Amino acid sequence: MKSELPHDHPTDDRPHRVYAALTNHCNRACPWCSTCSSPTGQTFLDRAALRRALPDGRYELQLEGGEPTVHPEFWGFVEDARADPALSHLVLCTNGVMLPRQADRLKAWLTRLGTPLTVKLSINHHLLDEDPGLLALASLCLEVLSSLGGTLILNVRLRRGIENDDARVLTAVTEAGLLPYANVFFLQRYGFASDEQSWDEPYLAGMKFSMVNPDGSVFGPDLVARSEAMRALPQLDLGLRKKKSAGFDLSANSTARKTLSLSLEGRPAEVYANANLSVYSAQVCNARCSFCVEELRPASRGKELSVQRTVESDDEVYFAALARTLTALAPLNPSVSVTGGEPSKDRRLPRILRTLQDFDARKRTVTTNGSGLLDVHEGRALIDWITVTGVRHLNISRAHPDHDRNAALMQLDEGLSLADLTEVVRRAKIGGTRVRLSCVLLEHAIHTVDDLCTYIDFAASVGVDNVIFRQLMKTDPTTVAANRVVKYSDRQRTALDPLLHRLTRDRRFTFQRQIVGYYYYVEVYRYGTTDVVFEEADLAHLEAEKRRAPSLIHELIFHPNAKLASTWQPWDGVLL
Ligand code: SF4
Repeated sequence: MKSELPHDHPTDDRPHRVYAALTNHCNRACPWCSTCSSPTGQTFLDRAALRRALPDGRYELQLEGGEPTVHPEFWGFVEDARADPALSHLVLCTNGVMLPRQADRLKAWLTRLGTPLTVKLSINHHLLDEDPGLLALASLCLEVLSSLGGTLILNVRLRRGIENDDARVLTAVTEAGLLPYANVFFLQRYGFASDEQSWDEPYLAGMKFSMVNPDGSVFGPDLVARSEAMRALPQLDLGLRKKKSAGFDLSANSTARKTLSLSLEGRPAEVYANANLSVYSAQVCNARCSFCVEELRPASRGKELSVQRTVESDDEVYFAALARTLTALAPLNPSVSVTGGEPSKDRRLPRILRTLQDFDARKRTVTTNGSGLLDVHEGRALIDWITVTGVRHLNISRAHPDHDRNAALMQLDEGLSLADLTEVVRRAKIGGTRVRLSCVLLEHAIHTVDDLCTYIDFAASVGVDNVIFRQLMKTDPTTVAANRVVKYSDRQRTALDPLLHRLTRDRRFTFQRQIVGYYYYVEVYRYGTTDVVFEEADLAHLEAEKRRAPSLIHELIFHPNAKLASTWQPWDGVLL
C-alpha cells in the first residue's frame, strides 16, 4: 500500500462529516460489502430523516449506500444539500453503474451535483468483473471533473490473501494511469466480511464524523455497529419468493415456529401455536363474485358449497357451542376472525362480537363485503358494534375503486357508496378499529402496477392506510370440480410473481417483510404511508401439507352448523 496520507484524509480543520447511506439497495453484490448492501436491500432513507440527522454548524456530506444513485429521490437529496448554507462539501461515493458514459451527458450529470464536489468511484474485483468499462468511466470522470473543478478519488479495495491479494485489480488501475488518484486499501473485517478472520479490524483515521443509515438511525464513529445495523434492515429473500409455501418450514420460518399440545375436551390435539380461529358466519352472502373463495374451497375438494352447507338455526345451541369452542381453545389463545358468508348481514353478528369480547379473544378481525356495516341491529349500526366490542381489524372486500365497476365485479347491488365507505372508515378510526381494503387481482380489473397505485391512492382518499391485494387462489388439480368460480379464477387470475418483480424495482414501494405459510405466501410493502400486502395461496399445498402431517392442525373453523373443525369443510376434521 502507499505510505503517504490517503486522499480525502481527515484534518483538524475539516468540518464534521456526515456519511449518509441513502439505501441498502445496490445494483452490484460485492460479497464482502462493508455496509451489508445488495440487490435485496429495500430500505430507502427519507429526506426529512437526513435533515434531522445533520449537526449544528458547518458540515460535509457524503452520499453513499448501498448505491446512493438508485434512490428514487437521489437528486432531491442533492438539492437539499446544495440549498443548505451550512454544507461545506459534497462527496458522492458510487459504483458508477448509473453514471452516463458519454462525455457530454456525464458532464451534465456531474454539473448537476454542484460544487465543491468529490466523487469517489469504487473499484474492486467484483465491480471490474461486472463492468469491463469501469476504468474507462473512471478516466472520463477524471477528465470531466477536472474541467468542473471537482475531485475524483478511486476507492480501490483488495482482498488480502485472495488471488494474490487481488493483484490484477491493482495492475488494471496502474495500467489505466489512475493510481495517483486512488486510495488503495485492503478490505477490513466488518459488514459481510465480518467472518474473515485474517483480515484487519476496521481502522479509523479520525473521529469527527457521524453515520446515518437508510432507516434514519444515526451512529457515532463505530463502523461495526453501523454495518451490523445495516445487516438487520429488511432484506428480500428471492429464493423464498420463488419457493413460496413449498419453502414453509414450521420450525424455521413460520411466525410461531412451534406447535402446542392441547386437550380439546379430553381429546389430544397438536395445533400450530399461531393458528387462527375463523368464525364462519351462517349468513349467505348477498354478493355473487365470480371469484368467491367460499365457493372455491369446497370446489377444490370436488364439492359444491350448497351440498356441504348446513346451519344450526337455534341461537341458544349455536352460542353455547361457540362458548364451548372458545373455552376449549383458551390455552391456545388463537387470533379470531369473523368471516363468511356475509357477516355484516348476519343478525347474530353483534352477539358473536360480544361473545368474542367476553372471552377476550385475541386480535379480533371481521371480514366483509361491507354492505351491512351501516345496518342497525340491537340499537346500533354494525360498524359501531365492531368498534365497541374491540375488533382490531376490519377487512372490506372491494375489487375496484369505482363503485359501479366494483358492483359489477362482485355482483353486489348493496355495496357501500363512496360516502358510506368514508363514513365507515371514519367511525372505525375513531373507535380504534383499523380498516383494510381487500382487492383481488383480476386480468380485467386491477392487474398492473399503475392499477395498484390507483387503488392505494383511492384507499388513502377514503382514509384507509392498509390494503391487501390477493392473487386468486389456486385449486387442487387432483380433486377439483371445475365449477363457474374455478373456471373464472383460472381465466382471470393475474399472476402475482411478475408484479412483485416489478415492485422490487419500483421505488414507490419499500419492502418490509415476507411471510411464508403452509399454503400461502405474503410480501408486505410500504407505499407512502400505506401498508400494502400481497398474498397468494394454493389449496393444493394445503392438502399436500395435510397429507404430510395429518395430525397437525394449522387452522380452526367454527362452522355455521356450530361445529369446530380443522378444515373449511364441515365434514372433515371435526374437533368439537
Ligand atoms: S461495496 Fe458498494 S458496490 Fe459493492 S455491494 Fe456494497 S454498496 Fe454495492
